[in-house]
Amino acid sequence: IRAVGGSLLAAEQALEHGLACHLAGGTHHAHYDHPAGFCIFNDLAVISHYLLESGRVNRVLIFDCDVHQGDGTARILEHTPDAITVSLHCEKNFPARKAQSDWDIGLPMGMGDTEYLQVVDEALNYLLPLYQPDLVLYDAGVDVHKDDALGYLKLTDEGVAARDESVMRHCLGRDIPVVGVIGGGYSKDRKALARRHGILHHSAQKVWLSSGGH
Ligand SMILES: [Zn+2]
Repeated sequence: IRAVGGSLLAAEQALEHGLACHLAGGTHHAHYDHPAGFCIFNDLAVISHYLLESGRVNRVLIFDCDVHQGDGTARILEHTPDAITVSLHCEKNFPARKAQSDWDIGLPMGMGDTEYLQVVDEALNYLLPLYQPDLVLYDAGVDVHKDDALGYLKLTDEGVAARDESVMRHCLGRDIPVVGVIGGGYSKDRKALARRHGILHHSAQKVWLSSGGH
């Protein structure tokens, strides 16, 4: 519950300032009436509903780059046309039975930095002008990393950082506020994992400073 509140607060900060990140969140497997895949409550869906119903935004776009499909988010928001669900995930990763997002971009096992970054770039160049959302919710899962215990993609630290920067620059370059949440990441080495999740925040700082953040 507290993590959902944190994502909401971060989203409100993003609406006010343009960019904000949360040190938790991105629990995209949680469904309406049951938890799944280490996720209890679906912050992405809850805050989308909340911001739309309160009239704070007219349209949100969820850009989910966790290696797993955002199946809970897709199902909860299935009948919410103003919440656009986009999931970039490895086709072979959990869940075996995929939900239907508005946009599912299934990636092959073993994809590395260059190809992955190209997919991110093309997806945002197409989707952001198409939907012109008032807010982007970015799930920056680091289980796309080559050393992740569960993910089947092969991004390096530099690739993850470049992905995060790319997403935030695409949004800010179009004056679309963006809120980053950390999503998944799995390693027995807790320090390495914490460092990996920290990449989002370093990328955000870099983008913020270079965009003349206010
Ligand atoms: Zn994941």
